[in-house]
Amino acid sequence: METSKKKLDSEFLIVGGGISGMTMALLLAAAGRSVTLLEKNSAVGGCMQRFSRSGIPFDTGFHFTGGFNRGLPEMLAVLGLQDDIREEEFRTHIFLADRLIKVSVPTTGIEDVCDHICSLYPKEANAIRKYYAVERLIFDNTPIFKLRVKDLLNTFFLMDEDFITLDDFFNKENVSQELRTILGAVAMCHGTPPCEVPLTTHCRVSFGLMDHISRIHGGGGSFIRGFQREAGLLGINVRTGVTIAECLDVDDKACHRVRLTDGSEISFGSCIMSVHPREIMKTLPPSMVSRYFRSRIDSFEESCGFFSLCAEITPSLPDLQQELTSLLSVCDLNKILKPNDGKESGTGIVVTREITDDGRPCQTLNAFQSVFPDETARWEKTSINHRGNEYSEYKAQRIEKIKEKVLQAYPEFRGRLNVMDSASMLTYRDYLSTPGSAYGIRQKIGQHNLFGRLPVKNFYAVGQNAILPGMLGAMVSSFVIFRRLVGEASYWQLLDQRLGRS
Ligand SMILES: Cc1cc2nc3c(=O)[nH]c(=O)nc-3n(C[C@H](O)[C@H](O)[C@H](O)COP(=O)(O)OP(=O)(O)OC[C@H]3O[C@@H](n4cnc5c(N)ncnc54)[C@H](O)[C@@H]3O)c2cc1C
Repeated sequence: METSKKKLDSEFLIVGGGISGMTMALLLAAAGRSVTLLEKNSAVGGCMQRFSRSGIPFDTGFHFTGGFNRGLPEMLAVLGLQDDIREEEFRTHIFLADRLIKVSVPTTGIEDVCDHICSLYPKEANAIRKYYAVERLIFDNTPIFKLRVKDLLNTFFLMDEDFITLDDFFNKENVSQELRTILGAVAMCHGTPPCEVPLTTHCRVSFGLMDHISRIHGGGGSFIRGFQREAGLLGINVRTGVTIAECLDVDDKACHRVRLTDGSEISFGSCIMSVHPREIMKTLPPSMVSRYFRSRIDSFEESCGFFSLCAEITPSLPDLQQELTSLLSVCDLNKILKPNDGKESGTGIVVTREITDDGRPCQTLNAFQSVFPDETARWEKTSINHRGNEYSEYKAQRIEKIKEKVLQAYPEFRGRLNVMDSASMLTYRDYLSTPGSAYGIRQKIGQHNLFGRLPVKNFYAVGQNAILPGMLGAMVSSFVIFRRLVGEASYWQLLDQRLGRS
C-alpha cells in the first residue's frame, strides 16, 4: 500500500485525549511530526479534567502525584509545560478504621517513612526495612523512569520481584495483617489487590508517593491548559467529539486510513491508542484480531471504581493542610480491592485549598470510595440524568455512608460539609472512560498488558493500562513509545533541545 508521507493527512493519529494522549501528541509535535488527536468527549483531559460547582473547582480523577523529586520536572520540561505545573505541599495519612489507628506518613523521604513505621512496629522492624529496601531497589532498577537512559531496550530486564506478588513478599517475611495494610495502603492508588499485584508494580507506585507526594496547583486543569497552548503553537490538530468508526484499506497487516464517527476520513502513518483495551478491541478490524488476542483482552479484569462526593468545608477551618487520608474499613486490602458486596471499602479523603471563580479562597473535600459494578448494574443501560428515583436514592445512601467515614477520620468537619455533587461508577463511565473503573484493568501477576505494537502493525497502545496506572504511569508509557516511534536520533535531539546537553 502507498503510504508516502506527502499523501498522508497526518503522520500520527492519536486516539484518546487523556494525560497519555496529550503527552504523546506534544512529544511527537515537538519532534516536528504532524499530529491529529481524536477525543470522543467534547473536551480533552480525561481523568485530568476538573469541574466547578457554584464557582468552586473540583478534581474528577487526578488529585496528587509523586515524582516532583525524580523525573517529573524533566518530563514536563520536555513537553514545554515546566511553567504551567507548580508543585504544592501535600501529605498523607493511613487510617485503619476497624482498629482506630491513624498513621501519618512523614513527608521527608522514604528513609524517614521507613524509620517511622519501624518505630510503630519495632518487633517487625526487620521486615519493614527489607520492604523499603526492595521498594528502592525496584525503583532504581526501572530504567523507564529515567529519560536519559541510553539503549533503553538493553537496560530493561525482568526482576525476580516481577514474579512474586506483594502478598508473597509479606508471607515470606511473616508480616502481620495490620502492618501489611499499612505497607500496602498505596494499593488504593493502583487498584490491584496485594494477592494479585506483582511486587514490582506495587513498589513503583508506592515508592513515588511515599518518597515525595505533592499536589499540582490548579490540579489536572493546569496540565490541560498548558497542553492547549502548546498544541496551538505546534499545530496539533485536536478534534473533539469524534473517534474512529471504521478502519479502511486494511492491507499487509497495516491500516493507514480510517473513517471517523462524523463521516470524514483521515489517512496517517501510525496510530497510537491511549484508551482502554476494550475500546482498542472495538476499533481494530476483526479480520486482524486472532482469537488468542481476543481472549487475552477478555481475560483482563477491571480495577475497582469509585463513588465520589465533593463538598465545601464551610465555615472553613484555620490552618487546614492539603492532604490525603486513606481510610480502610478493614485490615485486608484483598477484601477491599476485589469485587465485594459493598461492605468493605477504602475511602480516599482529599482535603484541598482552592480559589473560587470570583477569587475567594475556600477549602474543599473530595472523598472517593471503592465500589464495584454489581452495585449499579441495575442502571447499567441508562444514561446521565435518566436513571430514575431509585438511583437517586442509591446515591443519597452512598453519600451518607461516605460522610460517616469522613467524619470518622475528621470529626472536626461535623456540621461543615456542604456536599455539592456526587458521582457513581456510572457517572465515571459516561463522562470519563469505559467502563468506569478507576485505574483501568487490574495489573495482575503473569499478565501481559497491552503495551506497544498491536495486531495492526502501525497501531500502538499506551496509557494507564500499559505499564502503570496514575498520571506518571500514563505519561511514562507515552515517552517510551514515542522514543520507539521517532527513533533514537530524534529522541535525543528533543531531549538536548529541551533539557540542554547532558
Ligand atoms: C477518582 C479517581 C482518582 C484518581 N486519583 C489519581 C491521583 O490522585 N493521582 C494519579 O496519578 N492518578 C489518579 N487517578 C488515575 C489517573 O487519573 C489515571 O491513571 C490517568 O489519568 C489515566 O490517563 P489515560 O490517558 O491513560 O486515560 P484517561 O484519562 O482515561 O483518558 C482517556 C481519554 O480517551 C478518551 N476516549 C476513550 N475512548 C475513546 C475512543 N474510542 N476514541 C477517542 N477517545 C476516547 C476518553 O474520553 C479520555 O479522555 C485517579 C483516577 C480516578 C478515576
